[in-house]
Amino acid sequence: MMWRQQIERRLRQQRERRLWRQRLPLSLLPDQRVSDGRQTLCDFAGNDYLGLARDPRLAEAQAEGARRYGAGSGASHLVSGHLEAHHILEERLAALTGRPRALLFSTGYMANLGTLQMLCTDGMQVYHDRLNHASLLDGTHVGEARSRRFHHRDYDDLERLLARSRSDVPRLVVSDGVFSMDGDIADIASLATTCTRFDACLMIDDAHGIGVIGENGSGCVGPRFGPDQVPVLVGTLGKALGSAGAFVAGEGDLIEALIQFARPYIYTTAQPPGVACATLRALDILDQEPERRHRLYENIRYWRSGADQLGLPLISSLSPIQPVLLRDSQRVMHWGRSLRESGFLVGAIREPTVPKGQARLRVTLSAAHTQAQIDALLDALARLAVTAPFEEAPAT
Ligand SMILES: *Cc1c(COP(=O)(O)O)cnc(C)c1O
Repeated sequence: MMWRQQIERRLRQQRERRLWRQRLPLSLLPDQRVSDGRQTLCDFAGNDYLGLARDPRLAEAQAEGARRYGAGSGASHLVSGHLEAHHILEERLAALTGRPRALLFSTGYMANLGTLQMLCTDGMQVYHDRLNHASLLDGTHVGEARSRRFHHRDYDDLERLLARSRSDVPRLVVSDGVFSMDGDIADIASLATTCTRFDACLMIDDAHGIGVIGENGSGCVGPRFGPDQVPVLVGTLGKALGSAGAFVAGEGDLIEALIQFARPYIYTTAQPPGVACATLRALDILDQEPERRHRLYENIRYWRSGADQLGLPLISSLSPIQPVLLRDSQRVMHWGRSLRESGFLVGAIREPTVPKGQARLRVTLSAAHTQAQIDALLDALARLAVTAPFEEAPAT
């Protein structure tokens, strides 16, 4: 019975702290809309930045892949689950990011866990940007590392920490490329210079950069920074590329070490081959339709100028992640609910996903949004700013 009481107590605390999280069963509709069964909502919450998740060509490629290779891969990569489609995809991802090799993982969470678990041996000292994704922080707990955090995008702070550390232990610096809750972008050049100076390895998680940032959507790192500058590059396929899975790209020895030692790679069934086929189709579209990225950037510009005119508290973000920093978590929940009643789905993000006092609406933009949809969201936000201004908490 004790374990039941433990769970009960934790659930009660979660409610009392007003941190209760809920899922929302949805079905996807065209034009970046979703339905909750009762109401149609315009989706400004997802990470489908190029509108590829709903693209019928990806669905067709996935179905064709399933017919050709089977619905599931049937085994892990090291047994008999490493299929031709996975292998071709790895080669394409290596080429996209300008690295000798890439290794496919089933999810980004597992790619980060596996990579950090593999790297964190022999007293590894890890340095995290304070706002790194949860999967990166969790990865250092799985490994045997000691980790410290530096102030967000403050590379002087990182240098201070590195300068004070022992130089006879291996060191690893880890950062998001595009920060998932703020939308701002790491300064890869500064990070690479600092890491070279202190002989530290650099790992960048470019989950939100792949497909969106840089030439041809190759990400924040891309071929622009080679594996000598950014030795460990992680990307995910479930965001801008509209399918699922993740990869690590780098030199041959890094990839071989992951195959040999990364438990989250070894002990899991390879992703369904149809998913790899859908990603391959997404990479073709990324090449052939640069106008999607141009439309996305036009939408970001349009949103920012409208939101600026309303005086909304924005973060200086050039990416499709455009938070409205209301700070107070009750206010964020109130605005999120009101927006939903007006037909918009926007992420309401609070602790522990972001630090206390940093709660925000996480508005995300897609190439598939129309300017009329963005206008309608701005209108709804303008009404809220009048009835429940962000300077004062709502009375509830
Ligand atoms: C989404 C995300 C992940 C996890 O990727 P999944 O494929 O969804 O598991 C990892 N890192 C960052 C920065 C992310 O935003």
